[in-house]
Amino acid sequence: APIIVWFRNDLRLADNPALTAAAQASAERGAPVIPLYVLEDEDATPWALGGAQRWWLHGSLERLAARCAHLGSPLVLRRGEPGAVIDALVAETGADCVLWNRRYAPTWSARDAAVEERLKARGVDARSFNAGLLAEPWTVEKKSGGPFKVFTPFWRHLSATLDPPMPTRAPSALKAPRTAPASDALDRWGLLPAKPDWAAGLRRRWVPGEAAALSHLADFLDGPVGAYATERDRPDHDGTSALSPRLAFGEIGPRQVWHAARHAADARPELAPGIDAFLREIGWREFQHHLLHHAPELPDTPLDRRFADFPWREDPAGLRAWQRGRTGYPIVDAGMRQLWQTGWMHNRVRMITASFLIKDLLLPWQEGERWFWDTLVDADLAQNAGNWQWVAGCGADAAPFFRVFNPILQGEKFDPQGDYVRRYVPELDRLPPRWIHQPWAAPTEVLRQAGVRLGDDYPRPFLDHAVARDRALAHYRERKGK
Ligand code: FAD
Repeated sequence: APIIVWFRNDLRLADNPALTAAAQASAERGAPVIPLYVLEDEDATPWALGGAQRWWLHGSLERLAARCAHLGSPLVLRRGEPGAVIDALVAETGADCVLWNRRYAPTWSARDAAVEERLKARGVDARSFNAGLLAEPWTVEKKSGGPFKVFTPFWRHLSATLDPPMPTRAPSALKAPRTAPASDALDRWGLLPAKPDWAAGLRRRWVPGEAAALSHLADFLDGPVGAYATERDRPDHDGTSALSPRLAFGEIGPRQVWHAARHAADARPELAPGIDAFLREIGWREFQHHLLHHAPELPDTPLDRRFADFPWREDPAGLRAWQRGRTGYPIVDAGMRQLWQTGWMHNRVRMITASFLIKDLLLPWQEGERWFWDTLVDADLAQNAGNWQWVAGCGADAAPFFRVFNPILQGEKFDPQGDYVRRYVPELDRLPPRWIHQPWAAPTEVLRQAGVRLGDDYPRPFLDHAVARDRALAHYRERKGK
């Protein structure tokens, strides 16, 4: 009887334990393997895939389907409630085993548990594996018991105890069932934007799929990682790995990243400091999953309850200016436009733009979280929620609320020549570095020579940062008293 492998956010063939188990069982008992992807019904969760991720998913599935077909058993595409879809496929094919890799966000893990129970009740062998984390949340505990709430001890503990298994290779062939199950046509899922076609920038920037993920990791570890500890904060240089969307879709897994990075550090000791700093960020990814597992309310509710009734403002014009990259603060606007055009934003600038929304505009962090969710190709419930709460100062191990990012100083420090701003805010292209992060302060003659008409080509500041900062701090002091 066939074995179904249910792909989800593990869109790869190598280091995929569910697929490896299926291929092994198939070799032992000659069973066919049916690779399956289910596009889950959109309204089952408030966190249905955002637009940018739908675009990515299309590209990733296209490539996965090509590889499955090449190995011998085409990928079956179906849509609907996964329990019902899988039940139907089991009935159609007579499959007696369904394997998948676990998801960790509570919305999805509850759903998976229901699927598992239903299959087992029908006598189907249903089993799940870990493909997505170095250590699953329930396996990491403080010495004194209970989950970690602070990153540094979490990572100290994890990195000292970790011994992740070696990644497995992709199977060399997959035996197809005698009759191919019906499959939807990917193009008919409507994952790509119709009109307007906003995805041109995404197409220019990214190649989804496992092969691109692996070669990208290899290129990064081949050199750029050496300078990562300092370069990671420079949005004007491409000093980070850009692996986040690939990790979010599981085109590559953290065990592959871990072993490849350790191997590179052994081979070239001069890279080791960069590699340690890089793996520490992979550790942050683990930590956010850990937090979400233990605090399922993370995407909606501040972990620090003093923020539950924070007097956030309502300001549709401010929100729109932020979303469109027209706040008048160049580093903020460059970040928001990078996000819109490419589906990704540099981490330093994510912190600056998030701080601007929360502390300068005094808008609820959940508004920013929503916007990021829809526009990021790497949107991930745990990473997005945990990081927004971190910047808001209401999460676990968060930056204190009184630390307000100054968009001018941050710009001058991390984009000293203004090259990042120039790339995404071409209106300011000809402004000299001295003024590029605060064009409103430039002498009229400088603006004229640079061809910038403030309030016309480029907005004047939406608000005065110094005044907004004092307003935020006044609110913070009030919270502190609670
Ligand atoms: P690198 O610097 O190369 O880091 C390597 C990997 O480490 C990343 O791919 C990522 O998996 C992990 N990592 C790096 N920084 C962080 C971090 N601060 N927290 C958790 N993991 C991290 N990341 C997402 O993957 N999805 C999100 O939805 C997301 N939302 C964010 C929202 C805000 C407000 C902020 C401040 C950060 C958010 N991040 C999110 C974290 C971080 O910005 C991205 O992971 C990083 O910019 C991805 O680029 P990279 O792959 O080049 O990172």
